[in-house]
Amino acid sequence: MAIPYGRQYIDDNDIEAVVSTLKADFLTQGPKVKEFEEKFAAYVGAKYAVAVNNATSGLHLSVLALGLQEGDRVITTPITFAASANCVRFEKGEVWFADIDPDTYLLSLESVEKLIKSKPKGFFKGIIPVDFAGLPVDLEKFRSLADKHNLWIIEDACHAPGGYFIDSNHTKQRCGNGNYADIGVFSFHPVKHIACGEGGMVTTNSEELYKKLSLFRTHGITKEAMQENHGGWFYEMQELGYNYRLTDIQSALGITQLNKNDQGVIQRNEIAKKYKEAFKGIVKFQSLPENAYNAHHLFVIEVTKRKELYDFLRENKIFAQIHYIPVHTLPYYKQIGYDNANLIHAENYYSKCISLPMYPSLKNEEQEFVIKKVLEFING
Ligand SMILES: *Cc1c(COP(=O)(O)O)cnc(C)c1O
Repeated sequence: MAIPYGRQYIDDNDIEAVVSTLKADFLTQGPKVKEFEEKFAAYVGAKYAVAVNNATSGLHLSVLALGLQEGDRVITTPITFAASANCVRFEKGEVWFADIDPDTYLLSLESVEKLIKSKPKGFFKGIIPVDFAGLPVDLEKFRSLADKHNLWIIEDACHAPGGYFIDSNHTKQRCGNGNYADIGVFSFHPVKHIACGEGGMVTTNSEELYKKLSLFRTHGITKEAMQENHGGWFYEMQELGYNYRLTDIQSALGITQLNKNDQGVIQRNEIAKKYKEAFKGIVKFQSLPENAYNAHHLFVIEVTKRKELYDFLRENKIFAQIHYIPVHTLPYYKQIGYDNANLIHAENYYSKCISLPMYPSLKNEEQEFVIKKVLEFING
């Protein structure tokens, strides 16, 4: 019995939805894409949603829509998947990493503020915080910092559909709702909450950004607001865009997966609760701020003999994972000058972190086995 760190949950309902789309008129972008976008926007509480072929494309579209230019500087966290930073590099922007909070593992507001204040006015253009492991960033605080310095915010919410935080008005702010960030980005890779094979969603409350995201998704081609019109066939390519479309087949799956997400997040939280009860006072795990609800893409613990634990778990067919190798230490980033980045909390975290199995269909006996093996290792 092999236990992975994460896995998708597909049932007959999902399979039926895909099969019926295969028998319908549209395979690529059609009515299912529109339906998925509308349902997803309603789910997170945003005005607009744009479906894309993966979240990396979604992040790229986001920086394009926000008008990122060559040399523009953007701040993100080193503890994320490389794509959160790469989207800036696609447009030849500069990535600046700020450190994480050692307890929540999220991009530290203080660290970002210090970085901004150490530079002249107007030095930075935007911030990309990540709802790491499913834990929502307090975007209200990031927004007030961003407003002081005229910065945009892209919320990388790939880990966090269904997560939320409570703001200072006691209002629930769901990840990706666009109330504090300009744009939110989600992934539908199979290890994430909602599995489409590949897929992503970009959410916003801005009509202007929504139009740009839609335009860049399809080659920059449109039939709206044209300078000329030669007839029914006519279209214009108004920007240099891409083909980042999602298919109707994937969207059909996305819709049925989305319907199960609330239940999945509840199950993830039940699993987290059991881990916490077992590890409390023995093993350090990601802390939960009082005003936040963690969607729990991951359950991360910290141990000093991390490699030994990783190998020991593998011997027992428990396939834990490491999230993440700090982005600034990846060869590409080192090569372009991030060698001496002073990100102590991120590097210390990386030396100890390990993600334990976390997915809705993880069985009770399986989790108990994981807990037993971790404690056996810790106790020698
Ligand atoms: C998975 C992930 C991405 C990229 O998602 P894809 O859909 O695979 O392109 C970006 N950011 C974070 C934080 C992720 O976990």
